[in-house]
Amino acid sequence: MWLRNMWLRPFETLPIFLFIVILVSATHGIAQASTVRFIGGEGETLAEVEFTLHQEIVYLPAETLKTVFDSEMTHPYDHPRKQLTLKTKGKELRLRMGNTTVKIDPGKQTFILNAPPLAIQGQPMLPIDFFKQILPHLDDVEVQYNHTLQRIRIMPKTVWATEIPDGTRDWIIIIDPGHGGEDDLGCKSQNGLFEKDVVLNVAKEIQKLSNQHGLSIRLTRDQDIKKTRIQRVQTTNRNQGQLFVSLHCNASFLPNHKGIRLYINNPNGQIRFKTTALPVLGKKRLNILTQVNFLKQSQDFASVLQKELNFLAENPIVISEFPLITLADVHMPAVLLELGYLSNIDDATRLSNPDHIAEIAEGIIRAIQKYSTSVNQSANLNGF
Ligand SMILES: [Zn+2]
Repeated sequence: MWLRNMWLRPFETLPIFLFIVILVSATHGIAQASTVRFIGGEGETLAEVEFTLHQEIVYLPAETLKTVFDSEMTHPYDHPRKQLTLKTKGKELRLRMGNTTVKIDPGKQTFILNAPPLAIQGQPMLPIDFFKQILPHLDDVEVQYNHTLQRIRIMPKTVWATEIPDGTRDWIIIIDPGHGGEDDLGCKSQNGLFEKDVVLNVAKEIQKLSNQHGLSIRLTRDQDIKKTRIQRVQTTNRNQGQLFVSLHCNASFLPNHKGIRLYINNPNGQIRFKTTALPVLGKKRLNILTQVNFLKQSQDFASVLQKELNFLAENPIVISEFPLITLADVHMPAVLLELGYLSNIDDATRLSNPDHIAEIAEGIIRAIQKYSTSVNQSANLNGF
């Protein structure tokens, strides 16, 4: 009866078809969200692997290692004994399902995972902690895990070396946390987070990390005080830095606007705020042009930074070029980094999380190291 009616009255059945289409795409969306994305050193996707959640812990099939770590790996699994042997990079790892101990030979090393490997539907599965904790002991790699976005980045250790590349010690990097003081709060989130505090937290975290990695960082302000643009520029140019990073947060009337954004000062770029930028431009054109001498370097650094921070971003970060008064008088390569939208609930939540602040700071330090190393290398090649 229902079928006959359906064919007789196609227009009435259209909503049912639409409902099915929506249902299918919705479930497809959920399926996509249950994968972990593996990312390589250059930000490229190595694999997208479906995970199983067991007691809120992410588990991945042991054979994932073959795709993302070592294609030569063998992983014989002894079903009755529930014992998994991984042979990779000249090492042999022995694991038992339900047991958190990992034994590695040669060397008789023992590691304790924070969750045991498990046989799920007869398949040996490894907890996410295995990837984070064990892989760096098997090869010269570093592993970064982003729980919120379910991403793992496996990159060569040399990128984030504890030893300082030649010449890097001479680099002075100026970090400029925007706003500050009682009357310049910047933008504000619904949960009471101020831009001036977020950017200062990130700046201080960068400074803390830089001490461990031999980079000289100067902050334009290290406490909650008001600084004019001129004062910031004076501090910056007096320190004769090699790189300038201005930190800000965004706000929008549209609550769904979110994400990290990068800006470079380019007077030929698209004007950022049509109504206010034009009169300022006329007066400041000469100053803006001086920063432009560093346009190429600013673009280079921005793209390194983009690659590093993309790991933390839901959507790929966009670099925009505008005439930017904030960077106009800065006589060195410079970028303006907007860490997220405080008007967006997701971004505001992330930016109030100290772990996320630390991840951002780490990403910025990585980018500085990578960029300074590449500049030093090309300087060496040119005989400077
Ligand atoms: Zn701002």
